[in-house]
Amino acid sequence: PFDVLVVGGGPAGAAAAVYAARKGIRTGVAAERFGGQVLDTMAIENFISVTETEGPKMAAALEQHVRHYDVDVMNLQRAEALVPAGDDGLVQVKLANGAVLKSRTVVLSTGARWRQMNVPGENEYRNKGVAYCPHCDGPLFKGKRVAVIGGGNSGVEAAIDLAGIVSHVTLVEFDDKLRADEVLQRKLRSLGNVCVLTSAQTTEVLGDGQKVTGLVYKDRAGGDSHRVELEGIFVQIGLLPNTEWLKGVVDLSPRGEILIDDRGQTNVPGVFAAGDATTVPYKQIIIAMGQGATAALGAFDYLIRSTAP
Ligand code: FAD
Repeated sequence: PFDVLVVGGGPAGAAAAVYAARKGIRTGVAAERFGGQVLDTMAIENFISVTETEGPKMAAALEQHVRHYDVDVMNLQRAEALVPAGDDGLVQVKLANGAVLKSRTVVLSTGARWRQMNVPGENEYRNKGVAYCPHCDGPLFKGKRVAVIGGGNSGVEAAIDLAGIVSHVTLVEFDDKLRADEVLQRKLRSLGNVCVLTSAQTTEVLGDGQKVTGLVYKDRAGGDSHRVELEGIFVQIGLLPNTEWLKGVVDLSPRGEILIDDRGQTNVPGVFAAGDATTVPYKQIIIAMGQGATAALGAFDYLIRSTAP
């Protein structure tokens, strides 16, 4: 069995694996896709001390750092179930291929995925104008026109944030009213370069083959379609944690995020969690890595305090 089994190979999982391995304990990482969301990212400009890098480059560096240590890396493995430890003190993780991994502690770092609009052009222009993270990609649209899709808290926060960087923001909400907190809505309405469209359903992302040039939305009240010319589209309609497989076993928030304490501990003894899959408020690489380190150190603390073999 492992001492620390990490499930998920993004920034959080990689950090957890490095921290665990450096304690000289038996460490494994099972990941569906090593690198995680970083693989889908183009420019990364907010990983402190690295002025600029690219996602695939960082993903390769993550894997290289983990493999520098004696870590059993199991890539392309999807976990399907977690069974809390019984008398033998071993937590079990069942993989889709039928294998069962056993470990004294587990770090869950399965990350999250952005909910997509699922409209024509969205995939084609992903990273070519279609973006999901205002903290990450906002500065790329300095002085340009953008839309934010979604009028919940994250959409309105994104619109306020972007309004300070870009020339104009169009907020597009499907419902007939915004769902964000009133204080955010008030702030939004005070900004001169933001316009809000409600009862508006985005139906298409337009582009010139290279990059985004606009979007089409349908007025749900009148029924007719309109075009908006712009350079960027931030989709803010939800971040879905990859935790469906933990439901009923590990305590989750109403949004499906893993509940953890400040050592990364979940409600299940010996099971820790880190990164975008958890309730951590800001979903960023540097934060996920810090949390991965915390969870691994939490797991190590747990191991030296437990008497199991
Ligand atoms: P993830 O990166 O999501 O990794 C999750 C890992 O778990 C993956 O290996 C996945 O395959 C695996 N996994 C999932 N389910 C299972 C399962 N059932 N069994 C086994 N393995 C599983 N952040 C920044 O700080 N700067 C940026 O510039 C930036 N740009 C971004 C651009 C885009 C397009 C996106 C999508 C995100 C961006 N982010 C950026 C956010 C950043 O990528 C995430 O915060 C970070 O990757 C979270 O790390 P994580 O390890 O928690 O999860």
